[in-house]
Amino acid sequence: MTQARIPLAALEDGTQFADRHIGPRADEVARMLDVIGVGSLEELADQAVPASIRDSGQDDGADDSGETELPPAVPEHVSLAELRELAGRNELHTQMIGLGYYGTLTPAVIRRNVLESPAWYTAYTPYQPEISQGRLEALLNFQTMVADLTGMELANASMLDESTAAAEAMTLLRRAGRAPSARFLVDADTFPQTIAVIETRAEPLGIEVEVVDLTAGLPEGDFFGLLLSQPAASGAVRDDSALVEAAHERGAQVVVAADILSLTLLRPPGEIGADVVVGSTQRFGVPMGFGGPHAGYLAVRKGLERQLPGRLVGVSVDADGNRAYRLALQTREQHIRREKATSNICTAQVLLAIVASMYAVYHGPEGLRSIATRTHRMAAVLAAGLRAGGVEVVHDTFFDTLTLRLPGRAAEVVASARDRGINIRHVSADLVSVACDETTTRTHLKKLWAAFGVSGADVDALDAETADAYPAELARTSAYLTHPVFSTHRSETSLLRYLRALSDKDVALDRSMIPLGSCTMKLNATAEMEPITWPAFAELHPFAPASDAAGLLRVVADLEGWLARLTGYDAVSLQPNAGSQGEFAGLLAIRAYHRSRGESARDVCLIPASAHGTNAASAAMAGMRVVVVRCDDEGNIDLDHLRSTVDQHRADLACIMITYPSTHGVYEDTVREVCAAVHDAGGQVYVDGANLNALIGLARFGRFGADVSHLNLHKTFCIPHGGGGPGVGPIGVREHLAPFLPNHPLQPAAGPATGVGPISAAPWGSASILPISWAYVRMMGFEGLRRATMTAVAAANYVAARLTGHYPVLYTGAHGRVAHECILDLRGITKASGITVDDVAKRLADYGLHAPTMSFPVAGTLMVEPTESEDLAELDRFCDAMIAIRREIERVAAGDWPAEDNPLRNAPHTAESIAGKWDHPYSREEAAYPTGSTGPKLWPPVRRIDGAKGDRNLVCSCPPIEAYQS
Ligand SMILES: *Cc1c(COP(=O)(O)O)cnc(C)c1O
Repeated sequence: MTQARIPLAALEDGTQFADRHIGPRADEVARMLDVIGVGSLEELADQAVPASIRDSGQDDGADDSGETELPPAVPEHVSLAELRELAGRNELHTQMIGLGYYGTLTPAVIRRNVLESPAWYTAYTPYQPEISQGRLEALLNFQTMVADLTGMELANASMLDESTAAAEAMTLLRRAGRAPSARFLVDADTFPQTIAVIETRAEPLGIEVEVVDLTAGLPEGDFFGLLLSQPAASGAVRDDSALVEAAHERGAQVVVAADILSLTLLRPPGEIGADVVVGSTQRFGVPMGFGGPHAGYLAVRKGLERQLPGRLVGVSVDADGNRAYRLALQTREQHIRREKATSNICTAQVLLAIVASMYAVYHGPEGLRSIATRTHRMAAVLAAGLRAGGVEVVHDTFFDTLTLRLPGRAAEVVASARDRGINIRHVSADLVSVACDETTTRTHLKKLWAAFGVSGADVDALDAETADAYPAELARTSAYLTHPVFSTHRSETSLLRYLRALSDKDVALDRSMIPLGSCTMKLNATAEMEPITWPAFAELHPFAPASDAAGLLRVVADLEGWLARLTGYDAVSLQPNAGSQGEFAGLLAIRAYHRSRGESARDVCLIPASAHGTNAASAAMAGMRVVVVRCDDEGNIDLDHLRSTVDQHRADLACIMITYPSTHGVYEDTVREVCAAVHDAGGQVYVDGANLNALIGLARFGRFGADVSHLNLHKTFCIPHGGGGPGVGPIGVREHLAPFLPNHPLQPAAGPATGVGPISAAPWGSASILPISWAYVRMMGFEGLRRATMTAVAAANYVAARLTGHYPVLYTGAHGRVAHECILDLRGITKASGITVDDVAKRLADYGLHAPTMSFPVAGTLMVEPTESEDLAELDRFCDAMIAIRREIERVAAGDWPAEDNPLRNAPHTAESIAGKWDHPYSREEAAYPTGSTGPKLWPPVRRIDGAKGDRNLVCSCPPIEAYQS
């Protein structure tokens, strides 16, 4: 008897990646559709998405003009092989260009157990502090590290990069200062990308940036701020104390851009009275990655803490009086202050900040000092050899970077170094510079001497006769990183366990679904993640010749093309390194477009009341006036109010900024009318595309009337949230806005010559994580992406259908359907029972689940976004928990449990609180095992945290050792 044959062709198809990415199996989808009450995913999409915006029929991703479609999906191993081939096209050289990007050795224990660990990279921004204590502690270490090294009072939990941190420092001083002048001075010896980013940011705000040569002291006239660099871009180390004092005497404040490694050897800016210190922590173990991502930092003196942009971790106590961390002060500042917010920064660089902080934890103060000393000695010996060989070393005092004068020979020497495998900086026809770092070796010095035509130099002989190249009075004398955390984990075993102990306190996607509305916490597949730490992607310098990055630039070009096709736009820029930065870039494009047509008076930006807070903050940064458009009772844009507002602003309307589907999780069917009304009055349409997970494959912004959008690749396109960054926030534009995309002074290929200038330090922003999104699109193909969208919509409608009898679903579209998320309205329940959204969110932790988004966009509600990646069992676990919690609320409302002593109000429950004395009117089992003991128990490490107390009594660096003993 022969066995039935399975055809080879069927076997060759293998498992499609889409079937791994998408959670529910076909039979589960059928059950979900049953509960929703529709026959198929297509039918649901037909009901939910208005016909007026749908792509025509079974679109295959092809452009209407017949342009190429997305490539067909490939399995994981093929995508990896293709990326390996692309990586092979990159050329790795030793990078000694400097300019803020340096070689660094990432300790393998940190690379594998942080950067490559889903426990860290799949976490969300720690808005639920009780289940985020691990990354909050790591961020507090980061803040302590930065504050200590800069000599400042307080640092935040990361900025997007050094250049944007410098720009934020400028606007911070403008806000905080009393000087009437709008003039901001920038030392000419500053990284060119930082000067350019500052100029881009200053222009719409009417700040006059003046780049000045400070060798002759400060120029005449008033100014509100001054930016200095330590060391300067040329590598020079100077004593800036007199300049700082002189600026202060003239009523101005001072920002210092400081190299983090140099601060272990050199007197920190905090000790000469700097008001703000900014910089990058890249060289603390974070690969250069062709420009990003890395954590920028921003530290301030006392008195400026309430002006600090970005997120700040603070220390407070929990309900049992135990120390606990949480985000302090301005956590959700944009949502509260909107266009008056201090900054639009939302997603920052948490994962990279954690890597940098762990590098400091692992090396400790002596280790860092020895790395810095070695780096400095390499530079000093290199300089001595060059000098002895007759090369002019321009500065006598430096840390790691030398500028060399080679009249007429600069290009030749740069080429000669490159022939020897080393990239150095070509400053001008007569000048080159060379930056040493942690990875510099004796061999590099010898190759460099040869490249400069110097022979006979001997490393050890030169070392013996060469003194340090910074004056004794600039040497650091103060201690730093004295907190025990920076000296406890010196062995790999100890660090490994510390990392594990921290991540075990947190709930990331590796433990539970994270149904955060507006945040799209979907799968970050391992096959997408693997390539980002490959040296061929990780060790590229952003200002190396573009040919070095041929493979990665192919990833860039592919992704730009694919995103353009998926959104119906004509051009895409990948430079913005977060959604907020995309918003700013898009609004700048609109502003530049109006100006190019002689309509510079157009400065009104209409924003619906429900918009994400970053929208208003970005509009303010782009120099626009925000006018709010009302929403009607169904949560949709009030068309009458829109029309009358547009009429009122016919002469000065710049644009409208809407979110689609709306932040209420609904496909508004009037969106075409909204776009038409704005266009009719000469305005442009900005659509916030953070919710693209509800649209890919079903509709395209560029086809239903929008002119520009940002997308969040860290939402829809699988880049992990990293506990609050990195992100990538590319913008897509229609043709008429393409000339106004961002560009870059050091990399002409990064944008149009007519562009608005750089909005990030690096030409392609966070380039090294683009392979994640590339792999996602490559492995899904158009059909996979479309099915993902429809499954995400089905999952949200399933949750809405299961929960609507227990919690009213606030808004739905025309057919009673939601988009990819749904808002559960607890306001009535709170009124009747006293139980709040906070209580429910914290109680979910007792059930082993992460809470949905709280009180955004409507106070007193929870917004649930399940995404396509959760299988039915997990969706049901969430729904069952929510229903069980609803029953608990009933018992409080019925008086079974007192309003102030019940499992909801007391949530979350720690193991310690269960083990101790018990005098609550509910049992320990009800507290900790509300659904019986099913699976491993997730124990929150702390009880409910008192936020207000921490804000009143701001402590934002590691508490002193005595605090641990008490
Ligand atoms: C997430 C989000 C943003 C901001 O994106 P970031 O990357 O955090 O700056 C903007 N708008 C909406 C609707 C969002 O959901």
